[in-house]
Amino acid sequence: MIHLDGVSKIYDNGCVALSDITLDIPKGDFVFVVGPSGAGKSTFIKLIFREELPTKGKLIVNGRNVGELEPSEIPYLRRNLGIVFQDYRLLPNKTVYENVAFAMQVIESSRRDIQKRVSHVLDLVGLRHKAKNFPGELSGGEQQRIAIARAIVNNPVVVIADEPTGNLDPETSWDIMRIFERINRDGTTIVMATHDKSVVDAMKKRVIAIEKSRIARDQVKGVYGYED
Ligand code: ADP
Ligand code: ADP
Repeated sequence: MIHLDGVSKIYDNGCVALSDITLDIPKGDFVFVVGPSGAGKSTFIKLIFREELPTKGKLIVNGRNVGELEPSEIPYLRRNLGIVFQDYRLLPNKTVYENVAFAMQVIESSRRDIQKRVSHVLDLVGLRHKAKNFPGELSGGEQQRIAIARAIVNNPVVVIADEPTGNLDPETSWDIMRIFERINRDGTTIVMATHDKSVVDAMKKRVIAIEKSRIARDQVKGVYGYED
């Protein structure tokens, strides 16, 4: 599903964010990406959805060579990815329903498909009753559940998440993690950068630790491994 072969990322200012990373993430994996601040986790996530380009090496996501995509091909890559951010990034002037439906309108789904599918994913995150509300009327945890609904509405093969529980209290974080677990059980690959030690230690998923731009650990049922 995701394959990196000797991937490095050096920013224009000379900062080496990732050095010579080689790894495979097969379909259906649930991967936590951990490591100290500045280690390269966000860069890793950004390379996957082509927010940043690799400086060196080969990166394949869902059969596409991400480093060699034409700008016009980027939407086709992202169409198969669901992306969840720490700060939710919902559109404030659209309702919950419209926020989720928008991702399907962009790919020109039929009205009927949109109605069916949006209701389904709002049910899945337990917020169908908030369909007519605006994001500003929801709690942080609810907003993140909507962001997840939006990320999965087009049935992506991979959901990538950068610190999705970073702004949430522990109990709400667990609600969010249970949703990710369920999405993964249905076959979707999950790649999540996180600082949430208790979640990582409890869930016993694959853990890739990045330190100083390199892979320091890659464990099948891993632990967080840091004190913060
Ligand atoms: P993490 O997510 O683990 O905190 P990042 O991937 O954000 O790490 O950053 C890795 C390194 O790359 C850091 O040294 C950071 O300062 C640097 N970096 C990140 N983004 C940029 C950028 N756009 N330009 C220059 N340097 C960057
Ligand atoms: P921009 O790329 O213009 O800076 P933002 O970073 O604020 O936009 O991200 C929000 C945008 O992401 C919205 O336009 C939203 O519709 C869009 N989006 C579409 N599909 C997804 C998805 N699967 N996951 C996350 N955001 C998505």
